[in-house]
Amino acid sequence: MKVENPDAAWAKQVLREVALRATAARVAVLKLLATTDGPLSHAEVVQALADFGFDQSTLFRCLNEIADAGLVTRLDLGDQTRRFELRESSSEKEFTHPHFMCVDCGELSCMEDFSVQINPSRGPRRDKLGTITEIMIRGHCGQCQTSQ
Ligand SMILES: [Zn+2]
Ligand SMILES: [Zn+2]
Repeated sequence: MKVENPDAAWAKQVLREVALRATAARVAVLKLLATTDGPLSHAEVVQALADFGFDQSTLFRCLNEIADAGLVTRLDLGDQTRRFELRESSSEKEFTHPHFMCVDCGELSCMEDFSVQINPSRGPRRDKLGTITEIMIRGHCGQCQTSQ
């Protein structure tokens, strides 16, 4: 998700709100997620922040800390890669927006402008489902579609 002006002051403010110390790694990771359109995996974060010289385990710990604090969502989209995405708001709701994955190239996109409504049935079947945390939509992206 993109933030209007994701500078260090913004990141520090966000961290202060959840009572986390504003370490260089946390600030860098938050700024990165705020300027990226879509979720990032740990490997992608490591790659994007290579110039900063943080080690991989620091970044891994950092991602999990800010996820535990509720600043980012962990996405498990069924391809063995855990991705992290900045939360849209501080709402309690686990589920924010659906994601689209291209079955040809694996490109992942946020579907923030789409609305998906799920109206579960009531009763025992509803209880069995528990909480919906992710909606994954698969198909061919525009790029793959035209090159076929
Ligand atoms: Zn594609
Ligand atoms: Zn998303």
